[in-house]
Amino acid sequence: MKVLITGGAGFIGSHLAEAHLEDGDDVYIIDDLSTGSMDNIKHLQENSRFEKSFFVHINTILHHDIMLELTGICDMVYHMAAAVGVRYILENTLESIRTNIQGTEMVLELCNKFRKQVLIASTSEVYGKHLHAPLVETDNIIYGPSSKFRWSYAAAKLMDEFTALAYHRTHGLRVTISRLFNTIGPRQTGTYGMVIPRFVSQALKNEPLTVYGDGTQTRTFTYVKDVTKAFMALMQHEDAIGDVFNVGGEQEISMLDLAGIIIEKSGSASEISLIPYEDAFEKDFEDMQRRVPGIDKIRNLLGFKPETDLDAILDIVIEHMRKA
Ligand code: UDP
Repeated sequence: MKVLITGGAGFIGSHLAEAHLEDGDDVYIIDDLSTGSMDNIKHLQENSRFEKSFFVHINTILHHDIMLELTGICDMVYHMAAAVGVRYILENTLESIRTNIQGTEMVLELCNKFRKQVLIASTSEVYGKHLHAPLVETDNIIYGPSSKFRWSYAAAKLMDEFTALAYHRTHGLRVTISRLFNTIGPRQTGTYGMVIPRFVSQALKNEPLTVYGDGTQTRTFTYVKDVTKAFMALMQHEDAIGDVFNVGGEQEISMLDLAGIIIEKSGSASEISLIPYEDAFEKDFEDMQRRVPGIDKIRNLLGFKPETDLDAILDIVIEHMRKA
């Protein structure tokens, strides 16, 4: 089978590429290296087993001719390419909106043209600022005003979902949408704001761990290999087509507790430093206080359950970052 992964040099995309290569598939990736990196795929390019099965294109997904060729060649498409990371979105607002809306529209148009199956990686950001838990796929959505640019990411991804579902309704496109909650694992970088690599890097340098706000905000974290397994299983299941699925972990933790555990696990001498949001971001930043997925829908369809708990994930990430 030939698989196209847009954003294949990104953190999750590169793990997905590896999983498909290990299954014996041919993998084509396209990535503009805006947040992805050649370091993420170096081990795949250097592996002689994948010499004839791994094809890398460094380009933007907005390049119509290349996307036309790649979509034509491949049997299925994972659309992972997106501007991601709260810090990245706030610093690159216009470019992020353009990539996330025009890029997805083009992927969908081409998959429809060639009748190829596609999985769109969406995000738990689309739920907006709910306080209740768990968040389920049919929940209403609450955003802040358009002056608060954080929500531009959620709104763009929501528009991607509508467009994908409209292609399914109108043209019968075989498309599945997955809403990703915070995903972590080796090779994720803290450069674009992601909390665990930031905390681990700070702890390993014995620097203060920068907990934003009062640290009571909570998240759940999913191990990247659990996510790639879920994606591959969603692609195999007929009943996943034309539908939306949360993919996430169930262990809720506050950022203050997370910082404490990381300090303890890494044997660090770091302290915790509470940073007001207005010092960490622009003045009209809004955080999500709580974000916990309901995963009954994907569990009922696929039997999906994250296998790696937070404790194990943190051990893996600390070990990996210590070596790096
Ligand atoms: N966060 C933090 N310190 C950091 C980076 C992030 O306290 O150095 C917090 C952030 O405010 C949010 C949570 O950690 O409440 C998760 O942030 P991340 O950017 O990883 O993902 P998000 O869930 O916001 O998309």
